[in-house]
Amino acid sequence: MNWHYRQPVTIHFGNGTITRLKDEIRQTGKKRGILVTSPSFEKNGLAARLVTDSDGTLVTTYSGISPNPDIRECDACIKTIRENACDLVVALGGGSVLDCAKAAALFCTATLPAGDYLDRKIPLPPDRLPLIAIPTTAGTGSEITRVAVLSDHEKGIKTPLDTPAFYPDTALVDPKLTWTVPRHITACTGMDVLCHAIEAYWNIHHQPVCDALAIHAIRLVFRYLETACEEPSNPLAREKMAEASVTAGMAFSLPGTTSAHACSYPLTSHLGIPHGEACGLTIDHFMRINATADTDGRLNELARATGFSDPGNMADAIAELKYRTGLKTGLTRYGLTDTDLHRLVSASLVPNLKNNPVPITAAMLYDLYASLR
Ligand code: NAD
Repeated sequence: MNWHYRQPVTIHFGNGTITRLKDEIRQTGKKRGILVTSPSFEKNGLAARLVTDSDGTLVTTYSGISPNPDIRECDACIKTIRENACDLVVALGGGSVLDCAKAAALFCTATLPAGDYLDRKIPLPPDRLPLIAIPTTAGTGSEITRVAVLSDHEKGIKTPLDTPAFYPDTALVDPKLTWTVPRHITACTGMDVLCHAIEAYWNIHHQPVCDALAIHAIRLVFRYLETACEEPSNPLAREKMAEASVTAGMAFSLPGTTSAHACSYPLTSHLGIPHGEACGLTIDHFMRINATADTDGRLNELARATGFSDPGNMADAIAELKYRTGLKTGLTRYGLTDTDLHRLVSASLVPNLKNNPVPITAAMLYDLYASLR
């Protein structure tokens, strides 16, 4: 088996790591940084504190980013970068902020609006501004991945973009920043971690380094996610979920995601289901589907390595974890018609579906969505 592994992001991990920011900016040699964040960090004062602590190297802030960032928010961020002649981007927030900041740092070096890149026909620019990423959720791993996910809400599309230029230079992972994440968002983001790890492992592009990282992350999620939901300031649970998020990010960044993520995009853009919860809706079902063709026994090995007797038992445990953390286990409340199901199916036929170990047909997707209805 031939494989390669690459992880170019320098990662600093631990409670209080955010205090390194000033030094990290100094090391870049840049003097006109922009802080990209969400309204909540303007409101709670953290954004202002970072700007004050930066000794004038953060010259402006853009905080107009909402969950599942829209291309127009990215364009507005780029406008602020240009108006202030910024030469560095610091991103503070959940995956939505990090992704929008990654895209803005890249697209601002060219002339096209963000929407032009979503259809993938236009090559992404090769270079970006220097980028420091500070995650405030334990979920996406965006701080260390080569992916940015943008939406065009007017067209109802959500698309992952992928290029090595999206790897940030530095990630400051401070688990303490996640203590304020509300219970439901903790559950959603934690389920995203689990899906990253499982999908990295069963991916047709799997490889041993990513397998090891995935197994580590899966064990941590089963051990600590419920506690992080129940006790938001539990230092160990929050730290271990942050560790799971980073290691799952390192696991999936190269192989990519698969079926559960493919289905998550329309579940989010058509039905408004938060990203991690949308991924979790189908992951246990795909585990049962993939187990039917586990000819090399890899899924059995995964189940045993993470504390389960077999993939069926692991799928049951995922369903149970969703239930206990208050995540959706079905789509009954949406009153979906047959036309709705067909729309979901066709919008799920995206490239990462092809990474699934069992080929997934439109008919299989229809049956799956119908079983959740
Ligand atoms: P998010 O960034 O959308 O944040 C969810 C909510 O939590 C927001 O309202 C946000 O303001 C709030 N929040 C964030 N941090 C907080 C904190 N510390 N305290 C209180 N509230 C806080 O959620 P997410 O799950 O982190 O990111 C989801 C996005 O990331 C989706 O668009 C998804 O497609 C994308 N994604 C990207 C990658 C990648 O590799 N780039 C991987 C997976 C998912």
